[in-house]
Amino acid sequence: MRHLLQINGLDGPLLNQFGCECNRCRAPERRANTSASLITLDDQGQTVHHLLFDAGLGVVDNLNNSPYLQGPAARLDGIALTHWHPDHVAELNRLCVSHYNNRKRRGRETERVPLYCRSGTAAHLARENGHVLQTYLKQYLPHECEPPGTILSPLPLNLAGVTVTPVSVSHYTADLAPDNSLETSYCCASFVIEVANSKAALLWDIDSENEWLVRPRTAAQEQAVALLSDADLLIVDTTFWRRPTRKKTHPSFENVMRYARTLQPRRTLLVHLSGHPDGPGNPGFGWTNAEWTQAASAAWLEAGLSGAVAAPSVGEIVEL
Ligand SMILES: [Zn+2]
Ligand SMILES: [Zn+2]
Repeated sequence: MRHLLQINGLDGPLLNQFGCECNRCRAPERRANTSASLITLDDQGQTVHHLLFDAGLGVVDNLNNSPYLQGPAARLDGIALTHWHPDHVAELNRLCVSHYNNRKRRGRETERVPLYCRSGTAAHLARENGHVLQTYLKQYLPHECEPPGTILSPLPLNLAGVTVTPVSVSHYTADLAPDNSLETSYCCASFVIEVANSKAALLWDIDSENEWLVRPRTAAQEQAVALLSDADLLIVDTTFWRRPTRKKTHPSFENVMRYARTLQPRRTLLVHLSGHPDGPGNPGFGWTNAEWTQAASAAWLEAGLSGAVAAPSVGEIVEL
């Protein structure tokens, strides 16, 4: 068995802004990454399982371009959603309908696709994506609202040798009660993927207040940090460059460096990049992926952090 992680996604909430003239928005390449595919191959190299994390705009095209999901190898064995924000779910309908039609054309069973998400996210989705939920997806709902830094029940995967464990994180513009009561309801999960000799942590979307990653205060938070630590690959939400002076809905690269000092990943990929909140004329604003990788690598080295850091391209594939 081989396990591959493919980076998907083109849409980020702050990317290619209407009317913006920064270098990042003007570049023709698609560069935001808010989704990943865990693709499992058997010993003959055949694709035997595909678990998709998030389905923002562009994801169907990314899957169509994957060398491991072509034609009869196209499959979708499950979807795991970090949360309900549109940049993570906007293409759910296109994905599910085309997957259903493809199965039907090929004379295969058209079962509903297992969906994992937190109960708060499911409630938000039911309001805005009720049709796709009821028609194409089979929900696994843990019915919980545990606070940030809590390990949740592993996903019920039908795949030997792979464990995917959600961890509660805070992402305050997503942590809303679905009844609009303005109460906090923790809706967002990060995921830890463990295979025989390797571990990957998918840490998005998170706000800039996830201090439990740096200073765990409870036994539950210590366990969550231990699970996220020493990963071979950390894929982490990094929306702008400078550490914010007030609470932000996403972390900056300076926040991420603090998280990495605790988590000690061997390789770090920065996703959800934009730089727009840094403002024109400041470091981070309008940076391309190459500029992010260059500046982040220099800062990483100067801070004495472990492993390498880079901004990945869409379609990049990492072997676990
Ligand atoms: Zn979000
Ligand atoms: Zn997002």
